[in-house]
Amino acid sequence: MQDKLQQIKTEALLALKSVKDKIQLEELEIKLLGRKGGQLTELLKGLKDLSEDAKREVGQLANEIKKDIESALAKKKTEFVQQEMAGLLEKENLDITQPSLPPKVLGHLHPNTIIQNDLEDLFTSMGFMVLDGPELESEYYNFSALNIPADHPARDMQDTFYIKGHSDWVMRTHTSPMQVRAMQKYGTPLRMIVPGKCFRNEATDVRHEHTFYQLEGVVVDKDISFAHMKGVLESVFKHIFGPETKIRLRPKFYPFVEPGVNGEVTCYLCKGKGCRLCKQTGWLEVFGAGMIHPNVLKEGDIDPNIYQGFAFGFGLTRLAMLKYGIEDIRLLESGNMKFLEQF
Ligand SMILES: [Zn+2]
Repeated sequence: MQDKLQQIKTEALLALKSVKDKIQLEELEIKLLGRKGGQLTELLKGLKDLSEDAKREVGQLANEIKKDIESALAKKKTEFVQQEMAGLLEKENLDITQPSLPPKVLGHLHPNTIIQNDLEDLFTSMGFMVLDGPELESEYYNFSALNIPADHPARDMQDTFYIKGHSDWVMRTHTSPMQVRAMQKYGTPLRMIVPGKCFRNEATDVRHEHTFYQLEGVVVDKDISFAHMKGVLESVFKHIFGPETKIRLRPKFYPFVEPGVNGEVTCYLCKGKGCRLCKQTGWLEVFGAGMIHPNVLKEGDIDPNIYQGFAFGFGLTRLAMLKYGIEDIRLLESGNMKFLEQF
């Protein structure tokens, strides 16, 4: 056994001389000292079969040889580390007097922000206030105040994120909660828009995203009619899509307006002739609107017998996608630099 121990040591030191890098060194270490199958480890398993005296004698020799091998391996490792450091210093040719280079990308506005800024300017020029609202909203402002009671099926169409332990708070599903908040705060006459983030519990795909941007608008005053609504919306979409743009209003149910309309504009790409973008119809569905429901005015402390108003909403995200020809909505929130650097 003593001979075998000596043999392992001799061979180990010889093998160490031909080791060229840290990986080979590690392999050798495992071959010799590995807990499973290491040459020395395996040999020492035979110690238990020896007599007490032999055990003591061989054990002592084995320990010495193990220490010798370990220190030889450690010495080699240190050599490699020193070589590596020297190589790094040589490679790192640092000139601290060189002036810094300007950053490659200076930063710019997100496509959503470009559209939002443009529309804020337009609405401000028409006398609208620009308001901000909470993204974490009470169930009351998000639903109940907008004529959507707890058992109303319209709530199912806007599945959202509820807050654990606070079932009466929701991540707002639309910018509409600001309708009643603004009425309560500013009273009449009222002309305001609310651009901002909204949230839905969506299974995301190219057309659906859990986070998106809307723009809400409200006008309340005496003698406000459906014609005012149409006039404002026509101006807005002519501004966005060009002066030839026409709008088409068709009845649609929204709980917080009466009557409510689904708004379409002539396709800017084919000018109404029909193409892939508008699915050959010539029209693009871009907004919802209507005369504010008397129940909503009442929640805003406004007398529906004296005042009327209209409200409208559209997806800023959708407009950005149309304007820039973006086909996958998920790109907008992705933070993907290759995508964002195009704007
Ligand atoms: Zn078209």
